Amino acid sequence: MEYRPTIGLEVHAELKTRTKMFCDSLNDPDEKRPNVNVCPVCLGHPGTLPVPNKQAIEHVVKVGFATGGRPNGRSRFDRKNYFYPDLPKGYQISQSGEPLVIGGELRGVKINHIHLEEDAGKLIHAEAGNKEQGTRNKEDATLVDYNRAGVPLMELVTEPDLHSAEEAVAFMKELQLILRYLGASDADLERGQMRADANISVSATSELGTRAEVKNLNSFNAVFQAINYEIKRQTELLEKNETVRQETRGWNEAKQETTSQRSKEEAQDYRYFPEPDIPPFELSNVFDVERLKDLLPEMPAEKRVRFEKEYGFDSRRVELLVGDPGMASFFEEAVSELSASEADDTGSRGLSMPVITLLYNYLSSDLRGLIHSSGTAFSDLKIAPEHLAHLVLLLDAQKITTRQAKDILAKMFETGADPAEIMKSENIGVSSNVDEIEAVVAAVVAENQAAVADYKKGKTASMQFLIGKAMGKLKGRARPEMLRDLFERILH
Ligand code: ADP
Ligand code: MG
Repeated sequence: MEYRPTIGLEVHAELKTRTKMFCDSLNDPDEKRPNVNVCPVCLGHPGTLPVPNKQAIEHVVKVGFATGGRPNGRSRFDRKNYFYPDLPKGYQISQSGEPLVIGGELRGVKINHIHLEEDAGKLIHAEAGNKEQGTRNKEDATLVDYNRAGVPLMELVTEPDLHSAEEAVAFMKELQLILRYLGASDADLERGQMRADANISVSATSELGTRAEVKNLNSFNAVFQAINYEIKRQTELLEKNETVRQETRGWNEAKQETTSQRSKEEAQDYRYFPEPDIPPFELSNVFDVERLKDLLPEMPAEKRVRFEKEYGFDSRRVELLVGDPGMASFFEEAVSELSASEADDTGSRGLSMPVITLLYNYLSSDLRGLIHSSGTAFSDLKIAPEHLAHLVLLLDAQKITTRQAKDILAKMFETGADPAEIMKSENIGVSSNVDEIEAVVAAVVAENQAAVADYKKGKTASMQFLIGKAMGKLKGRARPEMLRDLFERILH
């Protein structure tokens, strides 16, 4: 029998706000010292009053617009009651009946709703090795850090509309991009800023099977492996005529398997009830909702279409740019400089496909390489986009060689100087002194008779060697093609 898998995702993202969801404590994911950003409200002291964070609500409404949903006319917070030491209040303020956003669709996957809640603190188990944090009894201590307690957390719930692990990961990656484009969340899975619960079932009929919910998947790889593991496990159960239990499971990274944690809790177990300290509200009383829609930046899907059309790039190039908005805007600013310089007398081809491609190549390989190896980002780059454009125009006009371009780029990366300045101060440039170059070629031939003999015997690699020698003497100030021509003329 054919068992068809079905998956529904509940994706959580920590939102980027100045303060926490219901109080003035800072929402600072970079804070290393434990229990610094806390106050009586997020510590759940009795008698304190939560005040919802407008910036967090705005982020969620924007994510809703970006994913085709509609803001709920009326919205409400609810208490979800449960006990766990990372939740000092004994309940989590969440939304159940009237979430902020209803519906939507992303990559063909229907979205049920998006709601807003607060994150819990972090438990640090001593056996994970936190002696330096003051654990006295290494074996049995658990530490708790409430910096994260009360941080705004968005939850997006899809319909059971996905049918493979690949689709689930692709969906999450697209959502991650959208969150980053909106500035709503850094959505870094390694930092716990984005995580998902995956509900998985398999069925041989048109009706959905019983699902298992795998909680707290914190990497794309975990999402992928856990879903495939569940599909296999459940299919094998059904093939043996056994039943799948509806339950909550966890992903064991070390063993690469899911394990049962508890039978699935029902909504009634949480005894949800409307948060009495926050009255229900009409979104349109809080914001100009339609204006928020107009304020949305260009979304990844729109950028893809435009880049394909404007630059004729293939999907590999388009994805690289769309996946890194900092790089994409740097690229576009540099391209606009090509057009500004077109009229200039650089002797280059200016704004044209070959030059745009050259620009793309220097950006995506050389410059990106420099950025990666120095551990920085496009946002703190010293190089201005127009300077990269100038470099590429110089190269296209054959005023510098490829090797010189790489050296100049490295200098630009360090100092932020214009390539023309660097050429002047370092005395770089392609020599137009034919006499000088011919003299060097003649000298190299005289000094490397063995290589010359090899070349004459048909060893073409020797030509590369000779060109390299000449290039060295000229400190890179010659075009390799020109050297090759001169050598060939002398040696034939
Ligand atoms: P609960 O109230 O138990 O959280 P929901 O109806 O809110 O259940 O669904 C939670 C998630 O489970 C949603 O993403 C939904 O798409 C998914 N889901 C529900 N039923 C199934 C099923 N049979 N197979 C796979 N996913 C499912
Ligand atoms: Mg749910």
